[in-house]
Amino acid sequence: MSETIFSKIINREIAADIVFENDRILAFRDINPQAPVHVLVIPKKPIPTINAIDPEDVALIGELFIAARQIAAEEGIDESGYRTVFNCNRDGGQEVYHLHLHLLGGRAMQWPPG
Ligand code: 5GP
Repeated sequence: MSETIFSKIINREIAADIVFENDRILAFRDINPQAPVHVLVIPKKPIPTINAIDPEDVALIGELFIAARQIAAEEGIDESGYRTVFNCNRDGGQEVYHLHLHLLGGRAMQWPPG
């Protein structure tokens, strides 16, 4: 897989506002936030899209949500609520081809999305 901006963040080649890290996962604030809280939770393993998730990644994907809920609590939006989103490919609005879970909160979300 070709290198993405997110692999450069993982490797500390470019800076990011990191809010969570362990051996498998990194989370950092989105550079163009769409809500008062907008954090991207990513696996360090370079999975390009949801379509490339392998059965062996099942636990890793679950860990993204465990990290997201922990960050939501730390950001004080767990009770007010939040949205988690994976965009996939062109029609899903994906721009960076390194799997990432958007964690958005701090304001009321609209439904349906545009
Ligand atoms: P996508 O559209 O692929 O689901 O979301 C990619 C997200 O990455 C966008 O919300 C965009 O603002 C964010 N992003 C792109 N480049 C950077 C960067 O260099 N640093 C950070 N922190 N976020 C980025």
